[in-house]
Amino acid sequence: MPPVFRFAPSPNGFLHLGHAYSALLNFERARETGGRLLLRIEDIDATRCRPEYETAIDEDLGWLGIAWERPVRRQSEHLSDYRAALDKLSALGLVYPAFESRAEIARLVAAREAGGPWPRDPDGAPLYPGEAKALTAGERTRLIASGVPYALRLDMAAACRRVAGLTWNELGGGPDGECGTVPARPEAWGDVILARKETPTSYHLSVVVDDALQGVGEVVRGQDLFHATSVHRLLQVLLGLPEPAYRHHGLIRDEAGRKLSKSSQATGLRELRAGGASPEGIRRLVGIRSSFSGG
Ligand code: GLU
Repeated sequence: MPPVFRFAPSPNGFLHLGHAYSALLNFERARETGGRLLLRIEDIDATRCRPEYETAIDEDLGWLGIAWERPVRRQSEHLSDYRAALDKLSALGLVYPAFESRAEIARLVAAREAGGPWPRDPDGAPLYPGEAKALTAGERTRLIASGVPYALRLDMAAACRRVAGLTWNELGGGPDGECGTVPARPEAWGDVILARKETPTSYHLSVVVDDALQGVGEVVRGQDLFHATSVHRLLQVLLGLPEPAYRHHGLIRDEAGRKLSKSSQATGLRELRAGGASPEGIRRLVGIRSSFSGG
């Protein structure tokens, strides 16, 4: 079976050099292994994703000379797959509704921090400080029936009790040079959100469901997602999904050393192209040798 790779952008802005690097690495890995390259559109956040960005992704990747299989999987069209995975985790007793708004959570964190530092996740966000896990079934039913919005969170402590010695196979490298068999530390993320009242999934849940459904054997993606792999491995084990290998790559940074953002015009593929850059020039800029021209 040819190995399967995927590039999985979110259509919430225009692609920049960092995306080009990731997409080209996936494309080259697929070529050198005789594998397949899939494009997956991660569009579950209906408030930020727009069809015009998806059209631009298609155009920009095509312009770069990247070819991928069709049809493209669009996450918004597969919510029932994520709901099924969520139901499985709920049946294991690992999911609970939390009713605090973002503002309430910020207040709770501030109150906790008055008594000393409050733990943060690997992305720097404070861990969930709420007590919703302790609500009784009756209180949950009453709150849900009253129409209050809620997030469905993973009971991380209970989830971690079910798995031991969780690791992943890192073929690339982490921010501190981690490679080979890397120990997963999902507990560093606290009770992550798996779904919301109006969206039956989250980034973490849909990415593991899709990688499994699409048979992805090697996940090639930016180092900014290195630590999230701990959560992905945990969900894979809980859901009985196969384990892919991971190849995290370094991030392309701007002149000030900052991670590129979708709004930074100087490194946008569209701007570079309008300024006369060629696909070969983009490959040179991100440091990928062309297998077409041998350059
Ligand atoms: N959709 C994610 C992003 O645009 C990438 C997900 C992944 O590669 O796992 O950052």
